[in-house]
Amino acid sequence: MNMPLFTMTSALLVAMTAASARGDFEKDTVVTSSGNLEITFIGHGSLMMRFAGKTIYIDPWGQLADYSLLPKADLILVTHDHRDHWDLKAIEQVRTDKTVVLLTGKCAAAFSAGVAMKNGDSRVVLGIRIDAVPAYNIVHKRPEGNVFHPKGEGNGYILTFGATRVYIAGDTENTPEMKALRNIAVAFLPMNLPYTMTPEMVADAARAFKPKVLYPYHYGETDPAKLVELLKGEKGIEVRVRRMK
Ligand code: ZN
Ligand code: ZN
Repeated sequence: MNMPLFTMTSALLVAMTAASARGDFEKDTVVTSSGNLEITFIGHGSLMMRFAGKTIYIDPWGQLADYSLLPKADLILVTHDHRDHWDLKAIEQVRTDKTVVLLTGKCAAAFSAGVAMKNGDSRVVLGIRIDAVPAYNIVHKRPEGNVFHPKGEGNGYILTFGATRVYIAGDTENTPEMKALRNIAVAFLPMNLPYTMTPEMVADAARAFKPKVLYPYHYGETDPAKLVELLKGEKGIEVRVRRMK
C-alpha cells in the first residue's frame, strides 16, 4: 500500500474509535460446568472475558479500544512488558481499588498495585484458578542475537472456569512446556513474525496438546487461513478465526 503512514494511521484510528464506541467487538460464548464464559475479542493480544458476573481483561491496549467506555475490571492479567501488552493508561481506565492485577516481575517493578507471578506460580482469584506458564522464543531473535522474549520473563496464563481450562499463551513459540500441556479446552496462540510463531509452529503445538478450540491471535499480517489449512482434518481441534490482528 502506498498511502502515507499518517493517513493510514488516522484511518485506522477512526475505524477503531467507531468500532469501540459501538462496542462492536466479536464475542463468543463457551459453556463451562460453572456457567457461560463470554469472550470479547478486542484485537491483537487483548481480550475481555465475563464469567459469573466478573469482568476479566487480558493485556488491555489503548490502541485497540477506548477502555474508558468499557466495563470496570475485576481482574487484569498482563503477559509481559512489551507496549502492545503492557499499557498502564488502559489499565488505569478499567481498574478500581478492588481490581486484582496479575503481571510479571518486570511489570510489577513499575506498578506497585500489581501482584507478580512467575512461571509455575498458581493463584485462585474470584474463584478462578490461574496458572502462570512459560512464554518465550527459542528460534526467533533480534538482529543482535537476543530472543524477543527471553525465557522466564513473560507469562502465559491458564484460567480454569469450573472444569474448563482456557490457555492464553502470550508472546511465545511452540515450547516444550506448551507442547506438554493437556486438557486445554480453549487456546489462544500467537502467530505474527518475527516475534512469535509461524502458522506451522502453531499447528505443531496444536497437534501436540490438542486444544478443543484454537483461536490464532496476535496474528498481525500472518494469514490465519494458512493455519486453518494446516489443521484441516485434524480431529478434535476446531480452529476459530476472529478479528485478532
Ligand atoms: Zn512481546
Ligand atoms: Zn506482542
